Amino acid sequence: MPTIEQVVERDICVGCGACQFATRGEVNVSRNEQGYYSADLSRARPDSLTSASRVCPFSNESANEDAIVRQVFADIPKHDPRTGRYLSIAAARVNDDEYLQGSSSGGLTSWLLAQLLDGGHIDGVIHVGQGGDGLFSYRVSYTQQELRARRKSIYYSTSFNTALQSIHGDGRRYALVGVPCFIKSARLLCMQDPILAGQLAYFVGLVCGHLKSAAFAELLAWQCGIEPGQLAAVDFRIKQPGRDAGRYSFAARARYPGGHSASDDQWITRPTSELLGGNWGHALFQLNACNYCDDIFAETADVVLGDAWLPEYRADWRGTNILLCRNRLIQSLIDQATSTGELFLQAISPAQAASSQAGNFRHRHEGLALRLADDQSAGLWSPNKRVLADHNVVNARRRELIRRRRALSAASHELFAEARRQNALQLFIARITPLVQLYEKCNTPSLPRRLLGLAKRKLQLIRP
Ligand SMILES: Cc1cc2nc3c(=O)[nH]c(=O)nc-3n(C[C@H](O)[C@H](O)[C@H](O)COP(=O)(O)OP(=O)(O)OC[C@H]3O[C@@H](n4cnc5c(N)ncnc54)[C@H](O)[C@@H]3O)c2cc1C
Ligand code: SF4
Ligand code: SF4
Repeated sequence: MPTIEQVVERDICVGCGACQFATRGEVNVSRNEQGYYSADLSRARPDSLTSASRVCPFSNESANEDAIVRQVFADIPKHDPRTGRYLSIAAARVNDDEYLQGSSSGGLTSWLLAQLLDGGHIDGVIHVGQGGDGLFSYRVSYTQQELRARRKSIYYSTSFNTALQSIHGDGRRYALVGVPCFIKSARLLCMQDPILAGQLAYFVGLVCGHLKSAAFAELLAWQCGIEPGQLAAVDFRIKQPGRDAGRYSFAARARYPGGHSASDDQWITRPTSELLGGNWGHALFQLNACNYCDDIFAETADVVLGDAWLPEYRADWRGTNILLCRNRLIQSLIDQATSTGELFLQAISPAQAASSQAGNFRHRHEGLALRLADDQSAGLWSPNKRVLADHNVVNARRRELIRRRRALSAASHELFAEARRQNALQLFIARITPLVQLYEKCNTPSLPRRLLGLAKRKLQLIRP
């Protein structure tokens, strides 16, 4: 039996849409009541399920990241187990403060896409932007204006089947932007489909902590006074001049009866950290697929961009990217722009890159090892991963924390769907808060650990 069936049964489907593309729609991938895309295999014939399973990023019949990398990056010699292969690793940003206001981080992602388009290396970009099915969806941009308008991080479940279908066989070349599992499934599709392989010329990855269902945008907006049914648009990342880059704000805009949206100056903005759900550690509305993911730096992408969450960069409110390059043409574009001063760039080590994503590593390495072991003990199927199942990978306190986070995230989907049905935000808040408190209780270090941490920080302060 192809293991895509277990992927879907166990809700490990990330909704990418690769199976829908590979089976020409026999597998249907659509947004469910809980606000995330998932596959329906019920109408697929057995041979279609076999093809679908070969392109599913979570099935055991598809090539894993290491196998894909051996094929596509055979000529990239440098490798680190934490980051995958690379030509260079850096912290970087576009040297244009006005441009940076419209980007989530250092602006390198949209800047690079613009360079690829401008230089004639591609005809278009397949990426996520406003509109389509839901608040955001995969769109195809052909102009600099469209690229500039479709920026910032979209923490919202999407699927790329429709966008890929729309370009398939049109004789043009594209860059595809995506989180690591989407890049992986697009690579898998290209291994099966030479036409698509000829068209997807560049794979641009985004470092990924986890993906959220549509409920994330809705919960944050609801706390700003906009009910889910009235929500017209959100902005997940508004920079706060003078503040730490991680202290960004969220904004939402309403739709009035009759379908009119509030005007641009009617955005309601709140600091994300003040909103329930704004703490990424709580993992509210995280897709279950993300509990089974071990690829942080989009190892199969030509280039990957994220936030340089390191003390020396996060203090700069403008935002700074972490950048890992695995493609020589992209490397030359970056080198040239650095030499002319268009980009600020500082080389950093794989260890620094990994430490900029320390929480991600905890969740996806130690956390994954424990979750796999828990599944095994419960007799549940789980996908083959590069991380091995291990109950003893962490101490008892962290074991409890990892399990509570998983439970909190799972409960959030159900509880929000119920609150939405009853149109009662307070119901969700009342039910989720005790679970958040339980999580926070085991996340708070004991008194001796707090004192030790304080002593360490003091020592660092007095060090020359
Ligand atoms: C779900 C998610 C989780 C993330 N988690 C982390 C994390 O844990 N750590 C970290 O360092 N960075 C993470 N990032 C990346 C980070 O938020 C920024 O997106 C990244 O640093 C690029 O910023 P930028 O200023 O270069 O991009 P911008 O100049 O703002 O351009 C962003 C580009 O990415 C495209 N895009 C945005 N969201 C998506 C999406 N979901 N799918 C496809 N294309 C998209 C846009 O269309 C645009 O072309 C995450 C991003 C996403 C979408
Ligand atoms: S993860 Fe992607 S390929 Fe796998 S079942 Fe879900 S939509 Fe299909
Ligand atoms: S955490 Fe992994 S599985 Fe989840 S969206 Fe990101 S890359 Fe995909």
